[in-house]
Amino acid sequence: MRWKNSRRSSNVEDRRGKRIPRGVKGGGIGILLLALVGMYFGIDPSLIMNVGDAVQSSRPASQSSEPYQASPEEQEQAEFVAVVLADTEDVWSQVFRENGKTYQKPTLVLFSGTVESACGYAQAAMGPFYCPGDHKVYIDLSFYKDLQKQMHSPGDFARAYVVAHEIGHHVQKLLGISDQVDQARRQLSKEEFNKVSVRLELQADCFAGVWTNRADRMRGILEPGDIEEALNAASNIGDDRLQKQARGYVTPDSFTHGSSAQRVRWFNQGYQAGNINSCNTFEARDL
Ligand SMILES: [Zn+2]
Repeated sequence: MRWKNSRRSSNVEDRRGKRIPRGVKGGGIGILLLALVGMYFGIDPSLIMNVGDAVQSSRPASQSSEPYQASPEEQEQAEFVAVVLADTEDVWSQVFRENGKTYQKPTLVLFSGTVESACGYAQAAMGPFYCPGDHKVYIDLSFYKDLQKQMHSPGDFARAYVVAHEIGHHVQKLLGISDQVDQARRQLSKEEFNKVSVRLELQADCFAGVWTNRADRMRGILEPGDIEEALNAASNIGDDRLQKQARGYVTPDSFTHGSSAQRVRWFNQGYQAGNINSCNTFEARDL
């Protein structure tokens, strides 16, 4: 991806090196929401619920700081995500304008280890996530090492896709889609809700594809191999692939993000069309 000379977004909140004091780890209802939105790479929601069992406290979540020393590689990644964020701002502002709407820019929070969000307390191990409650994307950049090594998804455009997918969830929030899904959750069984969740996730992948198309038309960001990097990442973080890696077998009813083939297909669909109307995963008969 061509990015070095591009604009960096000013909507990055750097919380790296900030510690959350013991006892203010929140919990409660926010954790449920986090379980809904936070499972970027298919972690069992019950794991996240367990995190939420931490003590509830009325103390304010003040955070103590200590100097944070990022390696040069990590600092480059921080700049990279600021550029991707800026590109998503430009593209989605334009797409919303075309549809007579106004895009509200989200904030991207960099954290290290643990973080407090409006959706509850989160750990880096859960992967990047979007919190609809505060319109923020949270990412610990160490995830990118896992993406490259454990998930066999190298390349800067694989990393861009991760951010674009989370921004896709923000777009869903602004369009009222995630609120509808959240309401539906109350009436559905866990299995039924997983199916809805898959559609929500595949739509975020499709939106990431739309962003890719539009950003490339706007600024010519794509280099040879970029699309392959994104498709490879989409494939490697499919629920079936991850479950197989973790457990050795696949249980489709517990899918919450979609299979590898589905994730590839929907990213590609958004990329080819460059239009959010191509992303109606909720009406699609076959995913
Ligand atoms: Zn997602």
